[in-house]
Amino acid sequence: MAEPLGVRCLSCGQEYAPWSLDYFCPSCGFPAGSLEVLYDYRKLSAPFPKTEKLSLWRYEALLPVGEDFAPPLRAGFTPLYPASKLAQELGLRELWIKDDALHPTGSCKDRGTAVVVAAAKKLGRKALSCASTGNAAASLAGFAAASGFPCYIFVPKAAPRPKIAQLVAFGARVFRVDGSYDQAFALALVASQEFGWYNRSDGLNPMVVEGNKTVSFEIWEGLGDVPEAVVVAAGDGAVVAGVCKGFLELKRAGFAERVPKVFGVQAEGAAAIAHAFSRFLSGEPILPAEEPAETIADSICVGKPAAVIPAVKYVAETGGGYVTVRDPDLLGASLDLARKTGIFAEPSGAAPLAGLRKLLAEGRIEPGDRVVLIVTGSGLKDPSSILREVPEPPTIPPQLEAVSEVVRG
Ligand SMILES: *Cc1c(COP(=O)(O)O)cnc(C)c1O
Ligand SMILES: [Zn+2]
Repeated sequence: MAEPLGVRCLSCGQEYAPWSLDYFCPSCGFPAGSLEVLYDYRKLSAPFPKTEKLSLWRYEALLPVGEDFAPPLRAGFTPLYPASKLAQELGLRELWIKDDALHPTGSCKDRGTAVVVAAAKKLGRKALSCASTGNAAASLAGFAAASGFPCYIFVPKAAPRPKIAQLVAFGARVFRVDGSYDQAFALALVASQEFGWYNRSDGLNPMVVEGNKTVSFEIWEGLGDVPEAVVVAAGDGAVVAGVCKGFLELKRAGFAERVPKVFGVQAEGAAAIAHAFSRFLSGEPILPAEEPAETIADSICVGKPAAVIPAVKYVAETGGGYVTVRDPDLLGASLDLARKTGIFAEPSGAAPLAGLRKLLAEGRIEPGDRVVLIVTGSGLKDPSSILREVPEPPTIPPQLEAVSEVVRG
């Protein structure tokens, strides 16, 4: 494992000793996640060693904590599938799908959680907490159960019931907050400070991005190269920030020569990062964003994105950008992806496909590009939105004639 050099604030540039701060920069007081973990990249002389480790701990050399603190549940090492039929239909040279829903708790959140839980062990913390629209909560609850940590979860009242079932099954203490995700986030923060819980809320704790970045190491190793573009959904921005940081670090360490353009996909009704990105491009500073948020894609329904600074700055550094899509296109993408690849993703998880169609139409991704879509969450968690989209299958009597009638039309 690489002992981090320190942490730096992406808002004011101030640097601090490693492990000296949990979430906030005392110098500028930016009220959201602005800290990034730094390493001495020159010390890394070779690419990742070939090991038997089938998990993200394989990338210990670029993680702040080592496998000796790792929780027992696996994180990382998800499949990377070629999607040639879909590529052909879209007129793309090459398309790959990184199925990050295939994690123990059914979403990409397990990467960040694994590193947060390992950091909590290293720091001797006694309990974990987070606010979440569902997936980060389920992830933390599962990994806390595996590691024997008590765990306190704050979800908005509107969180899908099946996601709450997951929390209860893992034995977490769950608070359903009668308010939005952003209100649950604020409450989880003050409660964590009051009771000394280590807070995993997305985009707040810099350890989350450290775990999230490993998806890019896997893509780079899986393809044997860096693709031209990577597309992923963004709510708080910690996932897209992690994707960018992973590729940027491969370049800083001298393992790769370039980075792909990274594109974040947001719902039209919850697009605070996309708006902050446009303002940043026109030369304005990045301020804490706050906008109303409404979309059927619950995992990216965020109005106050905690990772707005890294999500804007890192994406700009890759030469990528943001794209917003409408709710019907998110539902459509979920069906489209399921039917053409056999991967059933929740609407947020399928968002990259909707985003890719638009990016191609706008000429921001070109037909000759090699593109990777990251699927972030499983459709099995909350199939209700899909069930509303498709006609009910016919009910028939248990007789062959009834089948024939349907089959022959
Ligand atoms: C958390 C999540 C995202 C977005 O991650 P952020 O860090 O909030 O931007 C996208 N899709 C799914 C399924 C998620 O659970
Ligand atoms: Zn600062």
